[in-house]
Amino acid sequence: MAKHYNIPLFFPETACPFRCVYCNQQEISGRVGVPEDHEILHTINRHLRSFPNNEREVEIAFFGGSFTGLPAERQKHYLALVSGFVASGAVSGIRLSTRPDFISPDVLDLLCAYPVKTIELGAQSLDDEVLRKSGRGHTSSQVARASALILERRLRLGLQMMTGLPGDTPKKSLATAQKIIELGAHETRIYPCVVIRNTVLERLNHKGIYHPQSLDDAVDLTSRLYLKFREAGVKVLRIGLHPSEDLNGSAFVAGPYHPSFNELVMSRIWHDLFLEEFASRSGNLLELRVPPHQLNHAVGYGASNKKMLLHQFKRVRFRANSAQNDFTFSYSIVP
Ligand code: SF4
Repeated sequence: MAKHYNIPLFFPETACPFRCVYCNQQEISGRVGVPEDHEILHTINRHLRSFPNNEREVEIAFFGGSFTGLPAERQKHYLALVSGFVASGAVSGIRLSTRPDFISPDVLDLLCAYPVKTIELGAQSLDDEVLRKSGRGHTSSQVARASALILERRLRLGLQMMTGLPGDTPKKSLATAQKIIELGAHETRIYPCVVIRNTVLERLNHKGIYHPQSLDDAVDLTSRLYLKFREAGVKVLRIGLHPSEDLNGSAFVAGPYHPSFNELVMSRIWHDLFLEEFASRSGNLLELRVPPHQLNHAVGYGASNKKMLLHQFKRVRFRANSAQNDFTFSYSIVP
């Protein structure tokens, strides 16, 4: 199967009149202002050179702000600027992220005049109280309406969600995931909410009004969300914010940010599988056979799963076995 690559072009907070309580796009993306045309072309060419030539599927991705909130002429300009890469076959299409309330039949008419293939909506939650407390400025029914319009045009639909927002609970996050599945999303991203400098959330956190999730709670909830999406056939494109110099340094204030958040979640899934199987077992040697590409996750972040199993078995050996499907394992125990 062809490996998917995005060429990300960041448009931090361009055209966005909103101020979601957690958002300071400039801090997150680490750059200020819109890239110039020559920078956009340079970025695309640089990425294309860096990808392996065979079996690849590449999309040019306008990320960061709300692309369809730009004036129509600017949207056309950027779409025309990069469309040549699709025409030449160098990339397969254009992907963009935007707000649910910035999607309408007219907006989609404009986008569909270009090789736009995928639209990602920042749904964040499908609970109206959480949306209101987070200052999102749209409702869950607007997400549903925008999703239906996108699917009508036979475009690929991504619905991003966040956990730990103001007013949020694990139960509400799981209900949001269920609605994302029911709305027909092809893909999702899961972002635990973190407190970034110079945001409303920072002030709420400072006053003790907002309490972020602990890292452990966020890892636990995200592992359940991941499995739910996986079971429903919704592709999880990303878990947790991209590590950036800013987030590893001055922009981060509080919350479940970890540069290896994805690894923590994958380790947790394996942890729970092993716990269920071996909670009441013991022996001299446990030999586990796991899928090769999941070997590290099975061993656990910082070998955490191996260490847990060593409480019950004198020795624990992990073997890569290509006969195993994702999140399955076989084993033998020497008593
Ligand atoms: S809509 Fe997006 S860009 Fe605008 S404030 Fe909210 S998170 Fe930031």
